[in-house]
Amino acid sequence: MILKPDYNVESLFDIDFKEIKALGINAVLFDLDSTVMPSKSGEYPPEVITLFQELKQNFVLAIVSNNKNKDYISKVQTISNFTVIGNANKPSPKIMRNFLKSVSVKPEETVVIGDRPLTDILAGKLLGAKTILVDSITKDKENKLTRFVRKLERLVIRK
Ligand SMILES: [Mg+2]
Repeated sequence: MILKPDYNVESLFDIDFKEIKALGINAVLFDLDSTVMPSKSGEYPPEVITLFQELKQNFVLAIVSNNKNKDYISKVQTISNFTVIGNANKPSPKIMRNFLKSVSVKPEETVVIGDRPLTDILAGKLLGAKTILVDSITKDKENKLTRFVRKLERLVIRK
């Protein structure tokens, strides 16, 4: 199935990047909205900034977004110390392919990470990269809260 990602994880923070590196991956292409920041927020959560700092030591990083708002993309570029590309026209893999050429990384040494099968994952597949589907970064927070509330409920029920 062409839309089936290589990995399907609940959270960006569940990805084992040591395992990814061991597969021979040298570049990580992230989707932007809902993947590494809440949609249209223009700000990375602190834990994402920490993750990027760790990943920069081992991978070429880039953000490839379909967002067409030039002001928004350039704002995100100012808070990122790697390439941020907007208006990427995913699922076309063309922009990703051009970026990889510019940094001399092959598609098969690349992983594409995003929250949308029809754009992010399909683009990664067409590119010939590994793909990881993540849940929306805000949905994950809601899930954690829901889980926490459930735990509390169980504690209350036991008393
Ligand atoms: Mg997205």
